[in-house]
Amino acid sequence: MPARDTVDIVGSADGTESYALRDFLTRIDQPYSWLEPESGEGRALLGAHGREGSARTVVVLDGATVLESPSLEVLADALGIRYSPKRREYDLIVIGRPPLTLESSIPGFFVAGDVRHGSTKRVSAAVGEGAMAVSLVHRYLEERRAA
Ligand SMILES: Cc1cc2nc3c(=O)[nH]c(=O)nc-3n(C[C@H](O)[C@H](O)[C@H](O)COP(=O)(O)OP(=O)(O)OC[C@H]3O[C@@H](n4cnc5c(N)ncnc54)[C@H](O)[C@@H]3O)c2cc1C
Repeated sequence: MPARDTVDIVGSADGTESYALRDFLTRIDQPYSWLEPESGEGRALLGAHGREGSARTVVVLDGATVLESPSLEVLADALGIRYSPKRREYDLIVIGRPPLTLESSIPGFFVAGDVRHGSTKRVSAAVGEGAMAVSLVHRYLEERRAA
């Protein structure tokens, strides 16, 4: 179940900060809407929260809590999904490995551009992700070779 009903992000399509936040929310299955700051809806949301013309990435949780350029830790806290360990020691079993960025549920199968879940539908994003995917494929192959 998502931590919040609505999460709105107002941030530039090309910004790495905005990308990292969207990527994080996608990975934790938290639906969000993403608005460009210059769009009508983006401007309206910034104005409604006294952030007109803000150059920073603005995140609004449930239409009430406003975060400016939050780190992933700050966002996780605000979503209420960060917990402090209550014990000093835990047993831990690691099965497999978490997917690399842009890696699909099929190990070694990377996805970039419009076809990716949560993609931003922008040429610059598609091209950037394509370049990222190339280096991630190399990393995946190196890790396999080393294993
Ligand atoms: C009308 C419109 C206006 C837009 N305006 C802008 C804009 O102003 N600025 C902006 O940044 N973005 C804009 N976009 C979005 C931008 O075009 C896309 O985000 C970008 O093209 C995505 O690139 P991609 O490589 O992921 O996918 P695509 O560009 O869609 O490329 C996918 C390619 O794969 C091919 N293909 C599909 N299936 C197969 C198959 N089975 N075998 C072989 N080939 C296949 C397709 O024919 C296509 O050529 C616009 C999109 C539309 C539709």
